[in-house]
Amino acid sequence: MSKKLFSFMLGELSIVRLICNQPKCGAIAEMPIARLVRAASVKCPCCQMPYEDENDGPLKMLGKAIHQLKQQKDVDVEFVLPDTQR
Ligand SMILES: [Zn+2]
Repeated sequence: MSKKLFSFMLGELSIVRLICNQPKCGAIAEMPIARLVRAASVKCPCCQMPYEDENDGPLKMLGKAIHQLKQQKDVDVEFVLPDTQR
């Protein structure tokens, strides 16, 4: 039997879901990737804790990388999630 795969193109990414790991919070917030790039700091909308220490932390870098790769004409990026269930 063939393996099922779930795949999607990077260009399809538009929203990230952020799950706060602060004890007693655990809020889940969805944010447009464009806002990740523009936001001065990314913080939990519930407990207000910043998700990263620096202004240019990995969340902002992720947003910038996705934004720049969407503009890239020489390559398309596809993510593939293999079906691990048997
Ligand atoms: Zn929180």
